[in-house]
Amino acid sequence: MLTYLGVAGWPVAHSRSPAMHNAALAAAGLHGWRYLKLPLPPERFAETVRALPRAGFRGINVTIPHKEAALALATEATEVAAAVGAANTLTFGSGGAVHADNTDVPGLLEALPVDPAGRTALVLGAGGAARAAVFALRSAGAADVRVWNRTRPRAEQLVAALGGRVVDAPETAALVVNCTSVGLRDGDRPFKSLPLDADTLDVGSCVVDMVYKPGGTDLLAEARRRGATVVTGLEILIAQGAASFERWTGTSASREAMRGAVVEIADDT
Ligand code: NAP
Repeated sequence: MLTYLGVAGWPVAHSRSPAMHNAALAAAGLHGWRYLKLPLPPERFAETVRALPRAGFRGINVTIPHKEAALALATEATEVAAAVGAANTLTFGSGGAVHADNTDVPGLLEALPVDPAGRTALVLGAGGAARAAVFALRSAGAADVRVWNRTRPRAEQLVAALGGRVVDAPETAALVVNCTSVGLRDGDRPFKSLPLDADTLDVGSCVVDMVYKPGGTDLLAEARRRGATVVTGLEILIAQGAASFERWTGTSASREAMRGAVVEIADDT
């Protein structure tokens, strides 16, 4: 009998997670496991997820717009998921148990090439990705986590819940994490839409762009050109996926296999 994993979202058609996880399952020799796309509209999410264990599912990833609903339906949650207020990973146990976790947090920390401890940070955005980033950076000891958002009250709510401080204007920071969706669409102009001064991105800084896009984003191209260390959204996707994989299977995930699968798709689209 097969064991199933999957990603629930709405829409989810363009998710790279199935290719990435199926490559990791094959690399780990888990030939009886399959990772599927689960397109679920919000009104069907909770009832469908509760039925998945009986259909052979061990766990699922959860993406937009279900991360808060996933935490709400869980019977238990890690401290990280509870603090962030959202879950991207559900693991099914016996007797209807649903365990919620948020691997966006360890995923970001694994993908960072520098230790955030003692460094200043600027997080752009106030949605789910920004909440995970602020929690991750503060728990890793970043010195001063500034949060900017187009809609200021959302940044204020985030800071009230998770700490850091709200900023309105560009500030120099050692670590910059773009958690807005700016950069996703062709024609997006990150240095116009975001409070970023390109001159402050230099060899001393590290720029992370949660957005992943074939060919890379303009923000990272400019940061790289100025000598900054950059981290792509694909690296974050791989790291959070590997952490979910390890929770479900108890087996280490091959980052190389996952990277090979997502880069192939990125080059393809
Ligand atoms: P979300 O909850 O919908 O938040 C979107 C954020 O983008 C909000 O802060 C929003 O600001 C801001 N925004 C949207 N358009 C903007 C614009 N034109 N100018 C300035 N700010 C704008 O989404 P999310 O889940 O946090 O995800 C954010 C991005 O990260 C998405 O592109 C997502 O694909 C990516 N992501 C990647 C990974 C990964 O593994 N690499 C994981 C999670 C998310 P307002 O509050 O003002 O609307």
